[in-house]
Amino acid sequence: MKTLIIYAHPNDKSYNASILETVKENLSSKHELKILDLYKERFDPVLRFDTIGSGPAGLSAAVYASRAMIDQVVIEKEMLSIRNGIRARGIFPTWWSGMPAILKGFIERVFVAGFAYENTPRGLDGKLTGKAWIITTHNTPKIVLPLVQDYSKVLKFQVLKPCGIKSVKVTQVSPVEYMSDHKRKEVLKKIAK
Ligand code: FAD
Repeated sequence: MKTLIIYAHPNDKSYNASILETVKENLSSKHELKILDLYKERFDPVLRFDTIGSGPAGLSAAVYASRAMIDQVVIEKEMLSIRNGIRARGIFPTWWSGMPAILKGFIERVFVAGFAYENTPRGLDGKLTGKAWIITTHNTPKIVLPLVQDYSKVLKFQVLKPCGIKSVKVTQVSPVEYMSDHKRKEVLKKIAK
């Protein structure tokens, strides 16, 4: 089984880094694991429109050009690694109610028409398959969450589901900075199960 972990935190001593280690350690040997550490890879999150290049296999030149992928090699690698029925896990802190900019940029640049979806008169026709598990940390009390915007809702309902990934589990670890060390370790144990 292919499992892709998309990780977005700049500090390798952070609590999110501990979550990443926990998830990695607890995936069985049955998983063919790929970790995409966006900060370590120095992923360029800025979408630029461009007209050069013919596009990766399977994408028409026109579609490709409309999404301007200047560093083709990196982008093609990311694209291939998330095709075809994988299990994806996203691990990131919630910043300003949503995902970090580097992850937003990854979606803008990699989830392109012709790859992640097709446009139809009735809306998006998702092309990806598989399951996703989003693990995000923040400080907002759980009781307030139904009233707030985003906090992974956009990723789940407006990105992954329309692109075909229908089974999306979300784990919110909160209020992460105000929990005791003991409680945070308990959370890691739960994530490991
Ligand atoms: P860290 O700061 O690395 O760690 C948190 C605590 O866990 C620390 O006390 C650390 O010592 C401890 N820790 C680390 N590793 C372990 C371990 N293995 N076991 C036990 N304890 C450990 N929050 C909101 O609710 N809404 C927002 O809109 C929001 N916007 C933000 C915007 C920005 C730009 C920033 C920087 C923060 C924002 N926050 C917001 C807070 C943010 O979500 C949290 O700071 C973040 O989720 C904490 O995750 P971390 O991995 O950075 O934790």
